[in-house]
Amino acid sequence: SKVISVGIVGYGNLGRGVEAAIRQNPDMKLEAIFTRRNPESIDAGTPMVSISDIEQYKGKIDVMILCGGSAKDLPDQGPYLAQHFHTVDSFDTHALIPEYFQKVDDAAQSSGHVSVISTGWDPGLFSLNRLLAEAVLPEGKEYTFWGKGVSQGHSDAIRRVEGVRNGIQYTIPHEAAVERVRSGSNPELTTREKHLRECYVVLEDGADSEAVADEIRNMPNYFADYETIVHFVTEEVLRAEHSKMPHGGNVIRSGQTGQDNASTQLIEFSLKLDSNPEFTASVLVAYARAGYRLAQAGQKGAKTVFDVPFGLLSPKSPEQLRKELL
Ligand code: NDP
Repeated sequence: SKVISVGIVGYGNLGRGVEAAIRQNPDMKLEAIFTRRNPESIDAGTPMVSISDIEQYKGKIDVMILCGGSAKDLPDQGPYLAQHFHTVDSFDTHALIPEYFQKVDDAAQSSGHVSVISTGWDPGLFSLNRLLAEAVLPEGKEYTFWGKGVSQGHSDAIRRVEGVRNGIQYTIPHEAAVERVRSGSNPELTTREKHLRECYVVLEDGADSEAVADEIRNMPNYFADYETIVHFVTEEVLRAEHSKMPHGGNVIRSGQTGQDNASTQLIEFSLKLDSNPEFTASVLVAYARAGYRLAQAGQKGAKTVFDVPFGLLSPKSPEQLRKELL
């Protein structure tokens, strides 16, 4: 069948991850990468094009994979590009997904395109597993644990503290809480019981470490509700030991079934990711294939992971899938 031609919009961590992931998928070909920066200033193994020329690629690119940030880039780029292309994105501001869906859907419905929004791992694969577990075990309780992983938002918050030169924050699930959930006892867990926060901080010259640690631990919304551990390290250690972007987590649901709900059933889905953006990129690429196929089948509008049949993610034919994986 036809090779799907793909464009990447935005060349950050996710954009680089998509560029690498497409190489693992022979049914796809990367046509160009679009950026708001001067394309000549960026080094990549793929043609770099100014985003102002993107409409010239209509008819040449089957799917655009949007790799901009959720806070500032996608709210504009998502609805705009859905007017001109089939798109896939990883919009992850959970509370704003319904509003974003509506804007992208309006654009995609009227232009006749398919736009898969908010895929990745959370939202994305975690959402699928929450739905699956809830549908199968209607009487039960769902838990999501995140980490161990780097939280960009919390790392940014540390770096804004006076006296801090650089820093990174890991979100870590409390093993004891995870074990209580796995036991099937459906515990009520507080924020503090579920996760702890560990910070690695590089101080400015002459900064007061106690004052900095205090300010971080008591920061409302970010750290005050958690057990927070602050370590002070040198810039060299931060660079050598904390420059990866690991992440992951578990979606767990335990439910009761049978006469008198006497049986406990546990469903768990877990991810351990060395690189959050590379993994998210791999999910985006699989959904780009699925979105393209939905469009070929005559569908249009915004879609989430809930609207995309699983089989469409695979490059294999339905016959092959039935034989090999059912
Ligand atoms: P980055 O900050 O690396 O990139 C975002 C955009 O910033 C890029 O598209 C790029 O646009 C621009 N940019 C990148 N590097 C530079 C630079 N050196 N100078 C100036 N501009 C730059 O973000 P990520 O790729 O790490 O993440 C993107 C989004 O992915 C996140 O906002 C998050 O919402 C989402 N995400 C979703 C997940 C999920 O599970 N659903 C999981 C992980 C992330 P341009 O080329 O146009 O300048």
